Amino acid sequence: MSDLAVRTTGLSKTYGGRQPVEALKPLDLSVTAGETFGLLGPNGAGKTTLVKLLLGLARPTSGSGEILGQDIRQPEARAAVGYLPEGHRFPTFLTGSEALDLFARMARVSDADRRQRAGELLERVRLSDAANRKVGTYSKGMLQRLGIAQALMNRPKLLFLDEPTDGVDPVGRRDIRDLLEALRDEGVAIFLNSHLLSEVELICDRVAILNHGYLVREGTVMDLTTTGRTWRLHSTSIPAEIASALDTVLTVEEPPAESTEDSSALTRSTLAVEDRAALNAALDTLRAGGVEIESVEPQRQSLEDLFVSVVT
Ligand code: ATP
Repeated sequence: MSDLAVRTTGLSKTYGGRQPVEALKPLDLSVTAGETFGLLGPNGAGKTTLVKLLLGLARPTSGSGEILGQDIRQPEARAAVGYLPEGHRFPTFLTGSEALDLFARMARVSDADRRQRAGELLERVRLSDAANRKVGTYSKGMLQRLGIAQALMNRPKLLFLDEPTDGVDPVGRRDIRDLLEALRDEGVAIFLNSHLLSEVELICDRVAILNHGYLVREGTVMDLTTTGRTWRLHSTSIPAEIASALDTVLTVEEPPAESTEDSSALTRSTLAVEDRAALNAALDTLRAGGVEIESVEPQRQSLEDLFVSVVT
């Protein structure tokens, strides 16, 4: 059994018609079992097309794909997959429990498992109290939580979520994030499609950015948002002679105000150096000059900064 939740090899899609649209250019992509993976891209980048191909809802023009080690052309590949589509709808006249039951029947969950699972999941998404209320009375956040419960009914090992926090308030978003983290800890791979980059940054281990059907970036959030070779430094004040010895690499941003009474106030600076050896040499110089280091961190940009820089 492969330890990959998703793998594509040269997978592409061109929609036919009078003016064919190359929605997805040949794509090689892997998502590891248990990983939380974010698929990003501007409108029309090809994200939904990729998800449709993986879920067997559209046929590839070329290439191949596997989910949980099985060919995406085989319906069995989707037996252990859960899916929350964007803008999903439940029949409004059903209660939360009835809606879950209906979707579980369609997913061929056994009768015994269905009842037990529905109760567990309603509890898990904090909808037990509303289980017997009609879905038509649910708020947007409740509907999203019910949608996630629906996607979990068949105990998936791979969960596709399209904009799971769409329209959900900050507290509800936090709940959904906590739930996704718990699922990841249980080993469920999550394939998240979202425009909310600050949220993706919090939830995802790795992301890929599509633009005009091409994969333009892929990597861990940490690697992609770390900018080159600049480190932020918090330290005690840096004597002038040490600062001038390091003036090619050190920029003191914010020395504590001279008048400050607070002896613990720290100086903020940045070190722009070639590599880790040069960073350590600069730190040695500071330490030899009596400077005490509180923290050294690689300077990072937000995922949104990165996104905007690669898609515009
Ligand atoms: P969004 O963020 O707006 O949902 P997306 O990244 O999911 O966008 P897709 O829906 O995959 O993008 O669309 C990719 C391209 O394929 C777009 O140019 C779109 O117009 C086109 N497209 C999508 N579905 C079809 C279709 N059924 N027939 C023809 N063209 C399509």
